[in-house]
Amino acid sequence: MNARIETVVLDMAGTTVVDDGLVEEAFARAWDRERGEAMGLDGVDREGALQWVRDTMGQSKIEVFRRLLPEDDAQALNRAFEAAYDELVGEGRSIAIEGAEAAIRALRAQGRKVVLTTGFARPTADAIVASLGWIGLPDLVLTPADAGRGRPLPDLNLMALIRTQASSVHAIAVVGDTATDIGSGLAAGAGLVVGVLTGATPREAFETAGAHQVLGSVAELPELLERLGR
Ligand SMILES: [Mg+2]
Repeated sequence: MNARIETVVLDMAGTTVVDDGLVEEAFARAWDRERGEAMGLDGVDREGALQWVRDTMGQSKIEVFRRLLPEDDAQALNRAFEAAYDELVGEGRSIAIEGAEAAIRALRAQGRKVVLTTGFARPTADAIVASLGWIGLPDLVLTPADAGRGRPLPDLNLMALIRTQASSVHAIAVVGDTATDIGSGLAAGAGLVVGVLTGATPREAFETAGAHQVLGSVAELPELLERLGR
């Protein structure tokens, strides 16, 4: 089914926004402030916790922290993480992927809706969008709390479809830099699921995850859709 793509769902960190270790750095700051030498569940230490954050990149952050700590501690760590990430954004550390802004404009000029999605909470997502001067650039920015469940579940993509009034799951494209993004796109039944190589995921991992296409970066997306006649 090669429906025209009406709505493009773009991940933020690693896909449209450079993730230069910012998530890890914010997490390390948060852990040091909130936990210090204290261990998490199953005796997980700072290094183990950092590895877990790397392994679960792209997933809802609060869900990730709940696997490390009891509920109250997970909430506290999440607040500390958000604060630390906001500090890094405030320090000018959040920058756009080269060509991402032009790609978003081109997709909209092609008559499509563009939705940014993220595993971050709303205040962090808004701070990133504002720091890039992107308020109003996409049609919509969605966080896990807006949709219900975070990635790899399909909720964010399906909420993007509903909020932009796309005609079918076949008319949405989901684009991301992690296998988690690919899984969420496939789980939503998206007509086109695309991996981009601007994060830490190699091409082979996208192919294994079932991505329909792999691009060097989101900058190539408007042309890909035209080339595919979609
Ligand atoms: Mg990402």
